[in-house]
Formats: sequence, structure tokens, C-alpha cells
Amino acid sequence: MALKPVTEEFINELKLVLSSGAMLAVPDNYLSEPRSRWRGISSILVLPQNVKEVSAIVSLANAQNIPIIPYGGGTGLVGGQIQDKGPSGILLSLERMNKITSLNLDENVITVEAGVILSNLRDEAEKVKRIFPLSLASEGTAQIGGNLATNAGGVNVLRYGSTRNLCLGLEVVFADGSIWNGLSRLHKDNTGYDLKNLIIGSEGTLGIITAATMKLFSKPLEHTVALIAVKSPKDALRLLSETKDYFGETISAFELINKMGIDFFNETKVEVKVPFSNIPEWMVLLDIGHTGRNSAEKNANDYFENILNSGLAVDGVLAENVGQQNDLWALRENIPEANRRIGSVSSHDISLPLSTVSKFIDEARVEISKLGNFRINCFGHLGDGNLHFNIFPNKGEKREEYNHIRPEIKTIIHDLVHLHGGSVSAEHGIGRLKINDLVKYSDPIKLKLNKSIKAVMDPKGILNPGVIFESNQ
Ligand SMILES: Cc1cc2nc3c(=O)[nH]c(=O)nc-3n(C[C@H](O)[C@H](O)[C@H](O)COP(=O)(O)OP(=O)(O)OC[C@H]3O[C@@H](n4cnc5c(N)ncnc54)[C@H](O)[C@@H]3O)c2cc1C
Repeated sequence: MALKPVTEEFINELKLVLSSGAMLAVPDNYLSEPRSRWRGISSILVLPQNVKEVSAIVSLANAQNIPIIPYGGGTGLVGGQIQDKGPSGILLSLERMNKITSLNLDENVITVEAGVILSNLRDEAEKVKRIFPLSLASEGTAQIGGNLATNAGGVNVLRYGSTRNLCLGLEVVFADGSIWNGLSRLHKDNTGYDLKNLIIGSEGTLGIITAATMKLFSKPLEHTVALIAVKSPKDALRLLSETKDYFGETISAFELINKMGIDFFNETKVEVKVPFSNIPEWMVLLDIGHTGRNSAEKNANDYFENILNSGLAVDGVLAENVGQQNDLWALRENIPEANRRIGSVSSHDISLPLSTVSKFIDEARVEISKLGNFRINCFGHLGDGNLHFNIFPNKGEKREEYNHIRPEIKTIIHDLVHLHGGSVSAEHGIGRLKINDLVKYSDPIKLKLNKSIKAVMDPKGILNPGVIFESNQ
């Protein structure tokens, strides 16, 4: 079915179903994205205030074959929120649907509209002495609808899982405008196919998420935060195993940091406090949230002494107060900003079985060095096997000089990931960036069934055309 661009007639019909101020010309900042790879062409920005308005917009667009691009905070890194070609459609932002609609502390459950900004949800949880553990460097802008649509990961997956694991129920508007009220608060519900988990991670291609029921958790009484220098990623993984034996499931973050990341802070003038005078080649930032009433301090000191004495750690800093904890965390959280300022030739959000991580890093470095003298910043959520393996030009060079080589780099990295049984998209999704990778590396049966699901749920293909699958427009 051929998609059509927004027309004057369509705008006039929309005006009849929307409240005032709900439709605008698209401001420029909604047409770009964090890595400046795509430029948007959508015709109008629509800002509904409630699920009924979302439903009315979607049914009108469906009747007239007009593309809809769902938009959260715009922080997605694979271009899913930007329509860059085809008949220009509507950008549907849920930013005005930003209310917390209910809070149940006995059940540790909170229900929110999809436009709630992630950091606001985290703050609301803090106010009632709970935590909402999803945490990303983009949390001040990203919205819970966008987090669900991308099944975002972040730094606490090791303990709490990704967004999917934090969600109990959804409200969704499907392509024909129908509203599914799936705002369940149940932890167990084996009634038929799991629609909720199909929508989570579907990147706006199967439905518009308008609200969600999310889990809250007890707030740890104390945190142990440490930055530990190790000789190699292999030792970092041995440290992970040792730390798990010591603290069990209370480790919430285990982040790998490379010296290149620290060098980039100096080069880009991002201000952070680095606790080592000689920067080690590899470091691990770990965060352990103690919920029990045993002495966290004694345990942490014992552990620290143990890993230093055994030689597993070559150096380390144990934060002594919340200020120092924040300083250590700032090192990890500012890496994406410093990377952005340098400008990568090619960035890779990959995951691997834990036991292959170290071999992959060694092999990938060798392969990339055959193409030229690049700088590699390899960091990420090591505890989940999720690395950001990003490749940068040398100082003084511009990334554009290497545009011609980017596809080759990507193929080398992704082939190697695939060979080791990994995934070419650990947490950012497919979007517009990795459509060909999905085709190349997916099991054909999975791909065929995915396409069938899309065809059934959005027969006209109006929901985010060109995302996950190539649009046939
Ligand atoms: C500095 C930085 C750090 C980041 N760190 C991480 C990280 O650690 N882990 C991680 O997983 N990601 C990370 N990201 C990526 C990004 O923040 C996440 O993908 C986030 O979940 C996107 O949320 P958003 O609201 O900005 O969505 P958007 O960017 O607006 O949209 C993302 C996708 O979701 C769809 N969408 C948005 N809202 C809805 C909705 N209500 N219904 C249906 N579809 C919708 C869009 O169409 C698009 O396909 C980072 C990004 C930046 C810039």
C-alpha cells in the first residue's frame, strides 16, 4: 500500500480532533539526532495530551496512509526517531503526556505516561525511598516511552535487567487506532502470547506506547563504589567472577573503562577527577548496592584487600563518601560526551558471551590496525558482555576523512562479533542504522516471522517506515 505525504486536507482533519497547541511546524532540533547522521523531513509535529488523542491521530493517518514517526526524547543512537526519506509524515511526540498516574508502594509499582522523562521517574522513586534502576547518560532527556521502545539497557542491567525486565504492563495504540489497555500489575500472567514483550524493543514499528506500569525497588542502604585498575580485559572478567562470589547479586554495575577514554577527557576539555596519576590501560568501575544490614564497609574493605593482595587488581580507589562516588561515576558517564566531541569514524554497540570478550577485543584491535592507525576507545557494560567498541581518527584528523572506510570497519567488527556468537546491537536497537545487519546476521526463520508480525500488526506500514526493515516506499 503506497504511503502518502501529509496534506493540507489531513492537517485540517487533524485540527478537528486535537486540542489547541497540539500541532506545530517541526522545530529544527526535532530533525537532528545525537550523532548527526540523519536529517529529518517530517512535515508536522503533533503533541497529543492523552491516549484518545493519540488514537484519533493514528486512525486518521492510517485511513490516509500517512507515515507516523514516534518521538520520545530524541536520544536514540540508530536514527529510529528521524524520518529521512519517503513521503513526509508526522512526528508524534508524547512529551505532553508526562504524568505519573499512580503509585502503589505496597506493590512497588508505578504507572506513568510514556512522555515522562527518565530522570524525573528516578527522582519520583527517590522521593518515596525507592529506586527506579534504569540509568543512562541520556536520562535527563530520554523518555520512558523511548526507553521501552528501544528496550534500553544502561549501567544497572547486571542486577535489575534491561527496560523489559522493569515493566509489568503497557498501554499501546495500534496502527488502526485501537487502544490496548495492558496496564497490568501482575508478575505472573501466562494467558496467551506475550504482547507486552513484543512491543518492548519494537522501536515504534508495531504501536505507540502511551503509558506503562513499571517496577520500583528497595533502595540500597549503602553503596560501595570503586575504580579498580586491572592488567587486561581478561583480568577484568576474572575480577567480575570474584566480585560475584563475594557480593552475589548485589553488584549493580561493572563497567570497563580504557585509558583512551581518559585521554579523550583531556583532549576535549571535559572536566572530571581522575584518581590515578599514572593512568592504567584498563579500569573497572564497580557499584555494589548493599540492601542487607550486614556491615557493608567491612565487607568492602576485606574484598578490596583481597583483590589487591591476589594481584587481580593492580591499583584501586574505594570511594569514601557520596561525593567521591559521584566523581568516580562521572568518569564513566562523561565518556559518551568526550567521544561525541572527538567524533568517531565508526561506533559499535555489541554484546558477546562473557568468555569470548577478551579474545574479541584482541582480535578486533589486530584487524582494525591492518586498516590504518586508528584510536580505539573500548568501554562499556562489561558485566553484561556489552561493549562499545568505538574507532576514532588520530589527533588532528577529521572523521569525515575516513567516510570511505566506515562500511569496511563495520563489516570487520560485526563479522567478528557474529563469529563469536554475539549480537551486533546490544542495547541501541536496529533503527535505520542496522537494517542490513539484521538481514545479514539474523536467523532466517526469525527474520521471516518478524516481517509477518509487522505485516499483521501494521498492514499499511504507516508506523515508523524504514525502521528495522527497509521501507518498500
Ligand atoms: C549520551 C547518550 C548515552 C546513552 N546511553 C545509553 C545506554 O547506556 N543504554 C542504552 O540502551 N541506550 C543509551 N543511549 C541511547 C538512548 O538514550 C536510548 O535508546 C533511549 O532509550 C531512547 O529514548 P528516547 O526517549 O530518547 O527515544 P527516541 O530517541 O525519541 O526514540 C527512540 C526510538 O523509539 C521510538 N519511540 C519513542 N517513543 C516511543 C513511544 N512512546 N512509542 C513507540 N515508539 C517510541 C522512536 O520512534 C525511535 O525508534 C544513549 C544515548 C545518548 C545520547
